[in-house]
Amino acid sequence: TKVIRLASRPQGLPTAAQFQFDTLDLPATGAGQVLLKTRYVSVDPYMRGRMNEGKSYVPPFEVGAPLAGGVVAEVIESQHEALPVGSVVVGNLPWQEYILSDGKGLNRIPTDKAPVSYFLGLLGMPGLTAYFGLLDICQPKAGETVVVSGAAGAVGLIVGQLAKIQGARVIGTAGSDEKVAYLRQLGFDEAINYKTTPDIAQALAAAAPAGVDCYFDNVGGAITDAVYDLLNKHARIALCGQISSYNDTETPVGPRPETKLLKTSARLQGFIVGDYFSRWPEGVQQLTEWYSQGKLQTEETITEGFDQIPAAFLGLFKGDNTGKAIVKVS
Ligand code: NDP
Repeated sequence: TKVIRLASRPQGLPTAAQFQFDTLDLPATGAGQVLLKTRYVSVDPYMRGRMNEGKSYVPPFEVGAPLAGGVVAEVIESQHEALPVGSVVVGNLPWQEYILSDGKGLNRIPTDKAPVSYFLGLLGMPGLTAYFGLLDICQPKAGETVVVSGAAGAVGLIVGQLAKIQGARVIGTAGSDEKVAYLRQLGFDEAINYKTTPDIAQALAAAAPAGVDCYFDNVGGAITDAVYDLLNKHARIALCGQISSYNDTETPVGPRPETKLLKTSARLQGFIVGDYFSRWPEGVQQLTEWYSQGKLQTEETITEGFDQIPAAFLGLFKGDNTGKAIVKVS
């Protein structure tokens, strides 16, 4: 089988040189094992952090070892009772075309509820990130103003729709006019192209005349600095991601937000979706229900071909994707 390994640790923005294509001979499927054929591979911003050395909330990838992440695969050979041939599973799996597994950590997914790739997006990790980050940490109320940065991405577009379901006024920031148009079509009240807006602080202030009650932060940097100037009393901030600094080689510096949090009695909470692991089934059930009722939509940017996985991953940092970035392998 083909496999993609981490060739070296990137300094700054990763390049194609960090990815080593190789082949691997898989042994015959043994007792208790399944042979999986990879169908969809998820590429996610957090993988950038795993390419660095050092402790984080997930251990780093090892140089020379296969890269790995969310994968949807089909069982094509089985000696495992609970996973017959034809089952479709999702799991944290290596970037390989074929994978031998003992079934541990694999979740069988239904094929009749939604496209199976949605279990890497709306009905998977990004959807749950939006669900718990917004509903548990931000807790928006009807009539409140919610800002979400990275709004046209996998997590962001779900956050905005969930905030609309709660009756909030929703403002999103994203990096192209097409994305902004898409957000408006999804029901966002305001959407701002942060790349072309001459003054992001002014644009956000104009879009949020009543101030900001909730901020779901996916990107950090200048957008976040601007939102902190608009916080209302008792604002809630879910610190989900800081993609604008993932490739920085030095610690970013900027305005210090502490007095703004102090003056507004705001609550800033970092979180990772894994914190909510015990509540994942509840989240998947609720997201599936809203999706089936037509209350939630999603979008995918699908790149075709196993060999395109690195390019799709690198595209995250250029804003190539609208909605979930996925690679279709087979
Ligand atoms: P996205 O689908 O949003 O893809 C990344 C997007 O980030 C790009 O499309 C691009 O959109 C935007 N972007 C890239 N570089 C910059 C930059 N310098 N400044 C501003 N925006 C930029 O990814 P996800 O939805 O999967 O993830 C969104 C965020 O949530 C990430 O920060 C990620 O790390 C985080 N996350 C956190 C989790 C947690 O448990 N805490 C779980 C999952 C995700 P644009 O065109 O708008 O620039």
